[in-house]
Amino acid sequence: MIDWWDKQIQRADLLAAQSSGAKELLAFYAQLLRAQKEIYEFLRSRKDWLPSGEIECDLSVIREALPILLKTVEAYGPEALAAEAHDLSETSSEIINEMLTSHWRSPTDIQFFAKAFLQPYGRWLVDTGAERPRRELAGSERHCPFCGGNPQVSFLQSKEGNSESGNRDLICATCLASWEFRRVVCANCGEERPAQLGYFHTPDYDHVRIEACDTCKHYIKGVDLTRLGFAVPLVDEVAAAPLDVWARAHGYVKIELNLVGL
Ligand SMILES: [Zn+2]
Ligand SMILES: [Zn+2]
Repeated sequence: MIDWWDKQIQRADLLAAQSSGAKELLAFYAQLLRAQKEIYEFLRSRKDWLPSGEIECDLSVIREALPILLKTVEAYGPEALAAEAHDLSETSSEIINEMLTSHWRSPTDIQFFAKAFLQPYGRWLVDTGAERPRRELAGSERHCPFCGGNPQVSFLQSKEGNSESGNRDLICATCLASWEFRRVVCANCGEERPAQLGYFHTPDYDHVRIEACDTCKHYIKGVDLTRLGFAVPLVDEVAAAPLDVWARAHGYVKIELNLVGL
């Protein structure tokens, strides 16, 4: 069985080679995914250690993997981000600990380094069956049932014997787990009136659409795996960058920016 991370990486490599508009973003994202996989492997291969889900307890171990991310961003990231990675590599551990802890407690999509670094940690928590982390976030069906994170992307797939939810799932921006979500509902405010919900796509990305809400003016991208079964939601979402430009131009705000800042 192909590794989950390899699946993301291979898709990003493929789309980077094909894409015209988002080539650089995808090439960078592919490198980020490689770094995240390496961080995940570092955590997984750690002897006699399982994450507790308490960030304070786990920090001493997970911090050791931070240079993996910083080196990658320094080598492949856009100039400003690469400079920031360099600065962070010389930052005191107290400040780094504070950055990671505060992001874990109240995540924001504009804290690139903390978000990118903690995703493989979150994923490792899910995979080890760790206790749900206590993050004191507002829980609702629109947040990840495991860690309370925001949805990063939505996807549709065919599931047998499940027509009720319309087979829509959301992927968590923090731990990368997915959960079922009703089909015709805003993933930000819960709006259910169809007249308030709009879907937009272009022929260039037949399997990706903008799912926008006119009540809260937020949007998320949806990847339709029933149209393109080998699409990989997190990666195809990044590849469809022009849709974000369109959504923003029409006054919509993304629920959660992705790792390339769109
Ligand atoms: Zn989560
Ligand atoms: Zn809404």
